[in-house]
Amino acid sequence: MTFDLLVKNANLPDDRTGIDIAVSGGKIVAVEVGITSEVGRIIDAGGRLVTAPFIDIHFHMDATLSLGTPRLNRSGTLLEGIQLWGELKPLLTRDAVIERALRYCDLAVAQGLLAVRSHVDVCDDRLVGVEALLEVRDLVKDYLDLQLVAFPQDGFFRAPTAAKNLIRALDMGVEVVGGIPHFERTMEDGRLSVKALCEIAAERGLMVDLHCDETDDPMSRHIESLAYETQRLGLQGRVAGSHLTSMHSMDNYYASKLLPLIAEAQIHCVPNPLANIVLQGRHDTYPKRRGMMRVPELMALGVNVAFGQDSCMDPWYSFGSADMLEVAHMAVHTGHMTSRDAVKANFKAITENPAKVFGLDGYGLAPGCNADFVLLDARDAIEAVRLKPNRLAVVRRGKVISETAPRTATLSIEGRPATVEPWRYAPVEAAAS
Ligand SMILES: [Zn+2]
Repeated sequence: MTFDLLVKNANLPDDRTGIDIAVSGGKIVAVEVGITSEVGRIIDAGGRLVTAPFIDIHFHMDATLSLGTPRLNRSGTLLEGIQLWGELKPLLTRDAVIERALRYCDLAVAQGLLAVRSHVDVCDDRLVGVEALLEVRDLVKDYLDLQLVAFPQDGFFRAPTAAKNLIRALDMGVEVVGGIPHFERTMEDGRLSVKALCEIAAERGLMVDLHCDETDDPMSRHIESLAYETQRLGLQGRVAGSHLTSMHSMDNYYASKLLPLIAEAQIHCVPNPLANIVLQGRHDTYPKRRGMMRVPELMALGVNVAFGQDSCMDPWYSFGSADMLEVAHMAVHTGHMTSRDAVKANFKAITENPAKVFGLDGYGLAPGCNADFVLLDARDAIEAVRLKPNRLAVVRRGKVISETAPRTATLSIEGRPATVEPWRYAPVEAAAS
């Protein structure tokens, strides 16, 4: 047979090794050992990992790469970040947002990150961010899937025009309903915002993704209302709770009631390990809480947990590199998730799990799926999380759209090897003697 592209000798995230992947017409047509054919292009994976693309299920593309505009966040705190965003918002122009977002998408593609769910602030009456990102969604669609959430950053009830603007944004084509119940003026307003937002989603047949309980206050329990409204309105599987950091600080007895309710309502849980660990716990002396939701416990109950990056070089977070493996790496550490199975589960939380939240069609490494995948300079999923390796090839619909050279250092030390390749340091289990 003839294929457009054939990848030889790949390892897959499910631990299969020595696999060939054949591509034709933008689709994967075969995934098996020993495929031979006359093809357009052959990529020799050489025993390295091929994965379906990375997905960032929680991001703020309207703010990304704005670090330094109008000034740097000197203190590195959330407070100065919020102040900075307030200074930046009136200065935003459509063209500037588009330019930064496109530049970010270039970086994302180079990192094998081919689908992003971005919240977009709807509290600016001009809706500059919404207009800009709708255009970006269209401009990048051939190489990156961008999904937008209408996000009333200053509060759905608390900001005077937020409710109206959120509907305007949905009418313009934003596809997910956002919210921020813990930021409303009272617990009751927070609860009512969850109810109202879920009703909007139910009426319009949309998904929901709320910034929910992003606080250290253990009494912030809007996730409970979110689970309740999800059940009441039949939104199971279409609702995500982002951040849920208050869960870190909740009483264990209450958590033992809450987690099964989340599972029952089929709520997707979206921690943002990088942002959560630096933004939470700021009012603590010692011990300092780190604000991560209870990831291993949620996973053990079968809840779909997917990680987001949240920010990359914006007023709130001056780090970030569009590298979802950096996010998984942090999650492994914050969650004490160092068992081999747990590391693999964290790899899934930046690949298959967010694909379910996003509702991505044709995602995966099976015949019939879109020919979208990434060849990494690492042997397997665990090594990928450890090394955050170079993305040797990024393939979209069967076409290589980004290539990076392997990481190789040249050594000049007498008696030692001439080169060092980090991926060759993967552990080998000694055979029992
Ligand atoms: Zn966020």
